Amino acid sequence: MNGVVTSNSIMLEEIKQKMETENVQFLLASFSDINGSSRAKLVPSKRLSTVLESGAGFAGFAVGDLGHGPTDPDILCIPDLRSMTILPWQKDLAWFAGTLTEDGTPWSYCTRTILLNVMEKAKKLGYEMKTGVEPEFSLLKEDEQGNYSPADPFDVANKPCYNQVALMRNYDFLSTLIHYMEELKWDVSQADHEDANGQFEVNFQFADVLTSADRLMFFKYMVKSMAEDRNLVATFMPKPFSHLTGNGCHMHLSLWNGSQNLFENTADPKGNDLSEVGYHFIGGILKHAKALTAIVCPTVNSYKRLTAMSTSSGATWAPNLISYGGNNRTQLIRCPGAGRIEFRAMDNHANPYLASAAILAAGLDGMKNKVDPDLLITENSELESVLGNEIGKLPSTLQEAITELEQNEVLIESLGQDFMNTYIKRKKEEWAEYLEKISSWEIEKYLKE
Ligand code: ADP
Ligand code: MG
Ligand code: MG
Ligand code: MG
Ligand code: MG
Repeated sequence: MNGVVTSNSIMLEEIKQKMETENVQFLLASFSDINGSSRAKLVPSKRLSTVLESGAGFAGFAVGDLGHGPTDPDILCIPDLRSMTILPWQKDLAWFAGTLTEDGTPWSYCTRTILLNVMEKAKKLGYEMKTGVEPEFSLLKEDEQGNYSPADPFDVANKPCYNQVALMRNYDFLSTLIHYMEELKWDVSQADHEDANGQFEVNFQFADVLTSADRLMFFKYMVKSMAEDRNLVATFMPKPFSHLTGNGCHMHLSLWNGSQNLFENTADPKGNDLSEVGYHFIGGILKHAKALTAIVCPTVNSYKRLTAMSTSSGATWAPNLISYGGNNRTQLIRCPGAGRIEFRAMDNHANPYLASAAILAAGLDGMKNKVDPDLLITENSELESVLGNEIGKLPSTLQEAITELEQNEVLIESLGQDFMNTYIKRKKEEWAEYLEKISSWEIEKYLKE
């Protein structure tokens, strides 16, 4: 099954040994639900072999959003030993990312399995994707009325990005987080105060796409746990405050064959240090950008970040046009350095497995069809003048994005028809639920009209 069972049997003795020497008493068999939220069972370490064989059981219906009714059999989470992560703040406990099976076969609703499937397809063509992610988060406090504001009361500047004093007021939190990440050998490069009050980012080294997706799941868990320990709330919500810059999760990516970065070409006449393969991959992302948005920006709130006008800092930094090129932070795809591209639409509500799978599938399609991104953009801008200003824009609501996804055969086929049907259905329900609600904006604007 996608290499998980094989690598588990190879690694079992080594992991057992490690658990014993490190005195690990429990394991967390964890998986991501459709929404990118971690679900887990706590299992005593002595049950490791059993849980690898029989899995930890979950009632799919209780997890929600998973295409299961209450009468369906359990889904079983099999920990992937490659993902073992001893909690730096709770060393008797090891976290494992798991894949889900049903009746002994990989479950089509398991997003980690969906990624493994697309990775396998890429591997057969000689490609391995590597990604580096930049999950931004806000550190908040909740007052007695249930309102949230930046935890640091002095963090009120209009342009707080890289503010040294504001950064250092949060030294305890950030340095502890960096120590933990270093202990996990994630190779941290830097941390900074970002563009919104209370907003931070910690950068760590890129890795193969599966490892990065697992790390992103663990990172969110770690940051939220640390915040709770300090009576704070860490949010990864794309747009928690309308006047402040939102939380994104840019993804840097490259494609490899062994030790060769297939995206790299320092003799690129266009000056992006990219190969033809790299341009075709970009072409695929641009071609599928609208439908892709429904997966990388998957909630109602995601579009409050994507479509934001200017914030109090003077910019939003989120893309809204289907564009690429240069070391330019307003593009959908930025080319920040040799042999890699940065996809800037994604946010932290995206399920990292699903988002990575969809981006890879779009890129592979671009390569297969040798999609020229420049031609695509020229055609789009010509069409724009005929059709109005729509073709080259990212969807501005979840509803628009879902309509695009519904019509995108490449993504539906790559991620699995059954799963996608359920995904689209759930997202339509989410949109309908949102439409029914009366917002505080409506009350303010219309109540006394
Ligand atoms: P930004 O300039 O967008 O703020 P950061 O420096 O915060 O970028 O993050 C850059 C990310 O890109 C890091 O995670 C880094 O490891 C990753 N990265 C660097 N080279 C590659 C590559 N070849 N493939 C994928 N990711 C890469
Ligand atoms: Mg029970
Ligand atoms: Mg960054
Ligand atoms: Mg950032
Ligand atoms: Mg970035």
